[in-house]
Amino acid sequence: MKNELQVFNSYTGKKEVFKPINEGQIGMYVCGPTVYSDVHLGNCRTFVSFDVLFRYLQYLGYKVRYVRNITDVGHLEGDADTDAEDKISKKARIEQLEPMQIVQHYMNGFHDMMKIFNVLPPQIEPRATGHIVEQIEMVQDIIDNGLAYEANGSVYFDTLKFAEKHGVYGKLSGRKIEDLMAESRDNLKNQDEKRHPSDFAIWIKAAPEHLMRWKSPWSVGFPGWHLECSVMSTKYLGEKFDIHGGGNDLKFPHHENEIAQNYGACGHAPCNYWLHTNMLLLNGKKMSKSDGNSIMPGELFTGQSPHLTKAYSPMVVRFFMLQSHYSSTLDLTDEALQAGEKGYRRLMEGQKALQSMSHPGGGTAGTLDKEINAAIDQAFADMNDDFNTPKALASLFELVTKINSLKGGQLSFSDLTSETLERLKKTFNDFIFSILGLQEESFDSSGDGVVDGLMQLILDMRQQARTNKDWGTSDKIRDVLKELDIVVKDGKEGATWSKG
Ligand code: AMP
Ligand code: ZN
Repeated sequence: MKNELQVFNSYTGKKEVFKPINEGQIGMYVCGPTVYSDVHLGNCRTFVSFDVLFRYLQYLGYKVRYVRNITDVGHLEGDADTDAEDKISKKARIEQLEPMQIVQHYMNGFHDMMKIFNVLPPQIEPRATGHIVEQIEMVQDIIDNGLAYEANGSVYFDTLKFAEKHGVYGKLSGRKIEDLMAESRDNLKNQDEKRHPSDFAIWIKAAPEHLMRWKSPWSVGFPGWHLECSVMSTKYLGEKFDIHGGGNDLKFPHHENEIAQNYGACGHAPCNYWLHTNMLLLNGKKMSKSDGNSIMPGELFTGQSPHLTKAYSPMVVRFFMLQSHYSSTLDLTDEALQAGEKGYRRLMEGQKALQSMSHPGGGTAGTLDKEINAAIDQAFADMNDDFNTPKALASLFELVTKINSLKGGQLSFSDLTSETLERLKKTFNDFIFSILGLQEESFDSSGDGVVDGLMQLILDMRQQARTNKDWGTSDKIRDVLKELDIVVKDGKEGATWSKG
């Protein structure tokens, strides 16, 4: 591929040619989940988006060191800075469990969900509680560099001094230090410990009831949420690495404060490119568990949700996510998922038809040959243009139309060389499986749709029995399917099924 990879850098607000610090290698850090509850689909969208980036960078031949953390301490209710309960501690208190039981339970669930969505694991998955020593060290470094101060056992980052010295606080999120200073924080009890309202805690003295606590030079306490990412990215990727990612809801305060801490400890920003995914919406509003506006992945897979008329499989959902650019919002609706399901099937059927084709020999590089090569080049150019998966998919669908016409005889192999057919086969395979991370999906192990066909027959028979009021037969079908863990959902367009 001749054209270069370009990425949209949220820090500069520009699309830039991507140049790694070390040739052929990339260090990438992505903020992982806070494991105090089940992962929701919005979280999944962000991790699927970075999975495609990770896959594509590797496909381009880069050796990528991908670090994605687990937040298991320090993330307070409402993303607050101090004076709020730690999300994990709170859950542990309510459930009367050890905080690490909460962490283990939801981390396991997160990993299971990532597998279901075919998201590759990162190479390093560090946990905040495993890096308390390093976090204490970084707090000390920032104090030593004059950009943090201790007050009553807690340590605060001095945003005003930082802004004066480096002049960058607020650049990533487009905020002005004066506005942040002016924002009223009167509702915070310990506001008087801070020198300026925009200062934030990097070490927090634990209240007596706080469950997670460690000894430090300042108090028995726990690290601030933002600190862990500065510490773990520096530890595993160095003081300067290539890509830092996360959802765009993390730009402020989380990433803004990470930048400040890195300046405070190392004298410069942590990375060269900030990449932010946009939010998954549900019926036009940000999907968020705390607002009750969320769908859990399991609800999608079974169709058991008032928002849905039927069940959708994990790969249909993954495909649906890839149909929009990672930096655009994506609205999840039943209609959009239905369209995604059709698109996914069409793509996979095209792939199957293509892989079973063989060239009869003797073709020339005619118009068709040129069009196919141009569409393949375009798909790669689309990915090089800030990982534009919806455009790349459009190029692949252009190719599906040609594949179907070749299969149907409307287009001829005589217009196509065998090399181009081979290139097309390889590109399709690579794109679908290695780059987009889709999987062949059907628990029909024969892969030829026999189970789908038989299931349709059974559902038709069930419908017929119900129409005839033959309840004996329809109940029998229902019971057997239930035993096989098959969930049937009746919708406007007829019954559909999924594996429970
Ligand atoms: P959390 O567990 O809340 O720290 O979030 C884990 C990741 O999911 C972060 O990168 C968030 O930015 C991201 N995230 C949270 N809600 C959404 C959403 N509705 N759409 C996309 N990403 C989200
Ligand atoms: Zn983070």
